[in-house]
Amino acid sequence: MSAVEPGGPRLVLATHNKGKLKELRELLRGQVPGLDVDTQVVDAAAAGAPDVAETGVTFAENSLLKARAVAEATGLVAIADDSGLAVDVLGGAPGIFSARWSGRHGDDIANLNLLLAQLSDVPDSFRGAAFVCAAALAVPGAEGIDHETVEYGQLEGTLLREPRGQGGFGYDPVLQPAGMDRSCAELSSEEKNAISHRGQAFRALLPAIVDALSEPQLK
Ligand code: IMP
Repeated sequence: MSAVEPGGPRLVLATHNKGKLKELRELLRGQVPGLDVDTQVVDAAAAGAPDVAETGVTFAENSLLKARAVAEATGLVAIADDSGLAVDVLGGAPGIFSARWSGRHGDDIANLNLLLAQLSDVPDSFRGAAFVCAAALAVPGAEGIDHETVEYGQLEGTLLREPRGQGGFGYDPVLQPAGMDRSCAELSSEEKNAISHRGQAFRALLPAIVDALSEPQLK
């Protein structure tokens, strides 16, 4: 396990998604004295962290599994998130299976088309759904993990009958946030980040992140 080196990385986000890294850096900018977010907040690849299998059965478990493994492997404070779409009439599914709902991991179009087909007979008044996210922080200590925290976020809305918009990813073209007349794929990334489940969870985690990075041994 490596550890904190002067000027080196101090916080690892357990992801390969550059969009998530950018979002976290913007959230942390100016929040921790002496932290250079552009060079000291890094993703899993930059920290040499392993890929972690998502074997948990809840968003919180999966986010914790990833954050713990990355903190233990790197000796750095680690953050991980796990998110998905929870549909009311499906009892919260696809949930943790959102990325592989059609059977192929990461096939966004097949996942979305399968979901629309499953809900084709469901009337508009019962098409409630939400993007949900758990974000976990794991702080390494002398022996394993010293402490950990999990926070949550939720973006509620209604499922459309047809995809709309070109932006975003995953189920964005079919979720219309409550009180809006556009799908998530029709929002700018700034608009989406301001209301998103992930933005809410990362913002809720901010005090714990600031605390962890302000501890004397990690300065
Ligand atoms: P991850 O936890 O960010 O990897 O997301 C898991 C899966 O949930 C993705 O593959 C998407 O299918 C879905 N998902 C999570 N967040 C979003 C979002 O903001 N928009 C659309 N789909 C999402």
